[in-house]
Amino acid sequence: MNEQKIRCRIAPSPSGFLHIGTAKTALYNWLFARSQGGAFILRLEDTDAERTDEQYVDAMCDGFRWLGIEWDEGPQFGDEPAKGTYGPYRQSQRRELYAREAARLLEEGKAYKCFCTREEIDAMREQAAQEKRPPRYSGKCRNLTPAEIDAKGDAPFSIRFRVPEGETVVDDIIQGPVRFHNKEYDDFIIVKPNGAAIFHLAVVVDDGLMEISHIIRGDDHLTNAGRHVMLFNALGYPLPRFAHHPLVHDENGRKYSKRLHGANVLDWREDGYLPETLINYIALLGWTSEEEGREFFTLDELKQMFTLKRLTKSPARFDRKKLDWLNGQHIRMLTTEQLCDRVLPIMRKHGLDVDAQPREWLLEMARICQEKIPTLNHIVAYTDFFFSRPTAYEEKGMRKFFMKEDSLQWLETALACMKAVPSWEHEALKACYEEAAAAKEIKIGALVNSTRLALTGKTVGPGLYELTVLLGRDEAIERMEQALMVVRQETGGLQA
Ligand code: GLU
Repeated sequence: MNEQKIRCRIAPSPSGFLHIGTAKTALYNWLFARSQGGAFILRLEDTDAERTDEQYVDAMCDGFRWLGIEWDEGPQFGDEPAKGTYGPYRQSQRRELYAREAARLLEEGKAYKCFCTREEIDAMREQAAQEKRPPRYSGKCRNLTPAEIDAKGDAPFSIRFRVPEGETVVDDIIQGPVRFHNKEYDDFIIVKPNGAAIFHLAVVVDDGLMEISHIIRGDDHLTNAGRHVMLFNALGYPLPRFAHHPLVHDENGRKYSKRLHGANVLDWREDGYLPETLINYIALLGWTSEEEGREFFTLDELKQMFTLKRLTKSPARFDRKKLDWLNGQHIRMLTTEQLCDRVLPIMRKHGLDVDAQPREWLLEMARICQEKIPTLNHIVAYTDFFFSRPTAYEEKGMRKFFMKEDSLQWLETALACMKAVPSWEHEALKACYEEAAAAKEIKIGALVNSTRLALTGKTVGPGLYELTVLLGRDEAIERMEQALMVVRQETGGLQA
């Protein structure tokens, strides 16, 4: 086993978008492959022609690409050629292989033709239901003689796997050994009357022929794994190792529904989260590090530290607070340049004329927001006031800072500081404010907050001195004067 090359895969059915649960499976396979110097393979389970559309494939791969999960082998997309020597990597192009392997099973007596009609199967099911038995195939065609089979002529048939007697053990890295009585499985169909391979056959043939060494996937496939082990053995392929990890649950502890916001990994991109955050967060949805309690990881760290033995058995509940916290941490980890490049498209989309600003100005803007913004999208609220004067002031702020008895004095004092400060710099401005506050016995908070409201129209944003400096002296002074007019109107009665 140790000498075997590590080969992992993700085998999604492209049906619309990259679900967070599929992203988790992909990530674990990918991290494991990367940590072991192995290969990570993308294989599309696209046999359900009605549900598969190239558009869906693209949408899903967009998710992988955004996360940075790149595959070593995989199918062709758009103008990207297929990679790898174990192809084709789309099940729809592998039908002949399934037919060949099914024929081999038939020949070796490990599978048999079943001529039972839909009606007969339905009748068996009904009878089982009446007798309160689980619906099982009766085994009617299990032992047909060659003469009986010949007599069927060209009647349609499915192919059933001849489930052997005894017990099947799935030796699972996460769940431990899971034992199934083979009796629990009836002789299941592996090829439909129309010649199409059933999932169980296709997935095992693919994994076998692609020499997959580790199958890491959601634990909703654990019962299937019993069937798969039997098929691996019947087909004579070496058994891969299995690791079935729990599904992702939503904040209420239910399976994360496709319909919920955030089920689509790209919803998070839309909401201003970094791919680094999602990688880190998804890793924690079922894995813990040896370093007790540690939660922040960069991608490179994960690639080195990830181990299958630290995968957890219990389902992970989605924790928005932790995700938000991690996003803040990852934003702080970027260089200012990187942050700037990531926020500019968002700002442009919101009509902020960033292209009229010199690069230096933009970098400073990113720098003063870096410690503050919880998501990239917050950049808009934290910087839009640079691009246009406030036309209104936040109501709560107005009550607290513009409608108090001393409001006028606060703003006049702040304005005087702006006019008098010897150099238009953060430290100088700060010193001026502090001196004035002390001299006039005004709380520094009152000066800072009333200025913030005057300059930005808001009560939260980047650090006040930094944003004031970046705004420029003339513009800041004009905004202060504009605010003073408003305050005079608001407090007319109080001042009289
Ligand atoms: N298409 C299956 C799924 O998305 C993959 C099954 C497997 O990994 O074996 O659940």
